[in-house]
Amino acid sequence: MRIIPKGILLRPILLHKCPKCHEGDLFTHPNPFHINGYFDQPELCHHCGQKFEIEPGFYYGAMYVNYGASIAISVAVFVAMYVLGSPWEPIDYIVGVGLALFLMSPYTFRSGRSIWLTIFVPYESNPEKWPKNSAKKVEQPK
Ligand SMILES: [Zn+2]
Repeated sequence: MRIIPKGILLRPILLHKCPKCHEGDLFTHPNPFHINGYFDQPELCHHCGQKFEIEPGFYYGAMYVNYGASIAISVAVFVAMYVLGSPWEPIDYIVGVGLALFLMSPYTFRSGRSIWLTIFVPYESNPEKWPKNSAKKVEQPK
């Protein structure tokens, strides 16, 4: 059973899947909290052959997405502490927000990259148009 079916834009973003085929994993380790190499990515999608780093320095733009996610988390934690808690000192808010950002950083890092790649790589339901199959067609005449 699939949690989010293929073709839905949120699938590659939330599950960190390839935006071209919505099947291949965007990261080597499926668990974002895997200590060693939580940011390791394969060069190509194992399912469709989509290149994950489209050009050198491609993921610099993902920092802006990650920054926006960090702001959203900070505001959410601040509001939650304000609503749920009794009198908090300013240092309590700083520690609470900092702790939340630290604990969420592996997931927001991956989500930032996933969102950034999904912006530039559209979904393709036809396997004949996947990069892997295009390469095979080029090789066949030889
Ligand atoms: Zn793929």
